[in-house]
This record gives sequence, structure tokens and C-alpha cells, in this order.
Amino acid sequence: MRSTDPVHSSHQPPSLHHDPLTARTVVVAPGRAERPNELEGAAVRCPFCAGNESLTPPAILRAPLSPAEPWRARIVPNRFPIAIDGIAPPPEAGVLAGRPRPAHGVHDVVIESPAHVRSILDIAPTDWREVWELCRQRLAMLAARDDIAWATVFKNSGAKAGASLEHVHSQLVGLDFVPPLVVAELAAAACAVDPFGDLLRLAKAEDRIVAEAGDLVALVPPAPRQPFETWILPRLAEGSFHATNRDRVAGVADLTQSLIARLDSILPGASYNWWLHQLPHAHAGSHAAIPVNWHWHLEILPRINGLAGFELGAGCHITTMTPGESAQRLRER
Ligand SMILES: [Zn+2]
Ligand SMILES: [Zn+2]
Repeated sequence: MRSTDPVHSSHQPPSLHHDPLTARTVVVAPGRAERPNELEGAAVRCPFCAGNESLTPPAILRAPLSPAEPWRARIVPNRFPIAIDGIAPPPEAGVLAGRPRPAHGVHDVVIESPAHVRSILDIAPTDWREVWELCRQRLAMLAARDDIAWATVFKNSGAKAGASLEHVHSQLVGLDFVPPLVVAELAAAACAVDPFGDLLRLAKAEDRIVAEAGDLVALVPPAPRQPFETWILPRLAEGSFHATNRDRVAGVADLTQSLIARLDSILPGASYNWWLHQLPHAHAGSHAAIPVNWHWHLEILPRINGLAGFELGAGCHITTMTPGESAQRLRER
């Protein structure tokens, strides 16, 4: 680790570069090159372990609330952010102009356990529910800010999923624009009358439902990119996870542990990513038609096969397992 400054690297701040020819957006964040990569063999004094709090900026949120009690989960600013909080947004904020501009937003780390464990399966179910409630609270804080257009929480677990530290954690990002994949999903959903109702009905008809918790469903999507890809979503329309109720927060916690336990029993230690898709914030401005009956969803993508030329060149994934077989094998576990 070369940089010892807990907040800033010595490099230029992150910037956003948009390519109108490909509709591609890239964050250039030179400071992230300074990240210690434990999974590539760097010796790291773990910044996420209890006792090492001085290695991270102060917590934004913690569980429990009272600092008199030891923490079970903390959300802290990322030392190597992809967006900088506090830069005044340019006049065209919310719209991607053709020229590079500073990346404005929030990039946090969710430290999910005080103990140096690698898997969410090593976290007690009640503590894991608390982690999801902490994420919901942070997402609600970001939704209340008029300079943040959209926010997500995502996880990289394992080296194949892009993790650089093994201590169990997620990341939380808020941006001043709505990213291309979300704009594309909203546009596709706007073409159907009840896109998520169709998704749920077809999953039931084709036997692709893996598990349920309260009114949440975990299903294998119609075109999974990898074996055992699953999505978690509510049965009834709800656009934003940050506004959901306690039962659904607990349901997401329970289903994520259940799905990862199933994946882990089929492929021990498999790397995976997940990310939350929710609606842009109310003040985000016009970027795409926002469907009224949209459902937030968590997409869980195992990283079994690498992305190769056809995936990158054509945007089509190649997978080796039918959606139905993925669902059946996950249900059997
Ligand atoms: Zn640790
Ligand atoms: Zn999605």
C-alpha cells in the first residue's frame, strides 16, 4: 500500500467519459490503482476488521446505533472512490454531455461483519438482516439528496467477481446521472403493459421459481447469463428498495443467504456479483419514460465462465445451462 492518506489518493479525481458512438460510459479513476489487492497476494492489514477502524474514514452509519456497543456493521466512505462527493455538479448534471466531466456522487463501503470472514454465510441471519436495513437507510439518505439521481448497492465476492479484499463487504454508489443499463431497462419495460407481472407469471409457468420469502420471489430469469443466475423481486410493484418495509428487507436478507448457500453447495466458494436495480430518484429529471408498475430487483450473477470475445463484441452471453435446469438444481439444495 503506497498511499497512507485515508481519504484522497495523490492522483486526479475520478472523471466520467461518454462515448456517443457506442453509448458507453467509463469512469476513469486513477486513484483506484492504489488499492491493495489482497486476493492477488498483497499483504494487507485488514481495514475492515474490528480494531482497525483508524484505517477507514469515520462511519456514516453503524449497527447498532449506540457507539457504546461494539459495532456489527458499518458504512464508511470508500478510500478509493469512483465518484467524489462535494463537487458542484456542472450545469448539465443528469445529462451525459460529450466531454469528460468530474464524477460526482457517493461511493461507500458496507463492512458487513466485524470479524474477518469471507462469506455472507458466516454472518448470523439476524445480523445479516441488520446489514440490509443499514443499506436501505443509506439508500434512503441518498434518495433525499437532490444532487443524486440514482443509487445502488452491489457486491463483488471472490477474485473472479472483482473483489480486492476478502473481508466480507459490499459497496454503495450514488450518481448524479442514471447509468446506461438502467435507462435501457426502463425503456424496455415501458414497452410492456405489465413487464414484471409477465416475468413472474412466465417464471411460474416455466418452473423457474427457486424460493420465496413473504411476498418476495427468487427466480431464474428467462435469459440467464451464467448458470444459476437469480433475481430477487417483490410480487407487487414497488419502484424503490430504499422505501420498502422491514419485512421485505428481512426477506432480501434471508433469500440472499439461502441462494448463496445453494450456489455454494453446488460450487463451493464460487465467485459472484449482485447489484440492486431501483428507479431513478424522483427529482432525477427526464432521461427515460419511468414505468409506473416497475419492481426493484436484486440480480445475483455467479461468475463461473469468464466474459469472452462474443460477450464483449456482440453483447450476447453464451451459457451452458438452461434456465429450467438452473432453477431445478438450485431448488434441490
Ligand atoms: Zn478483516
Ligand atoms: Zn435489472
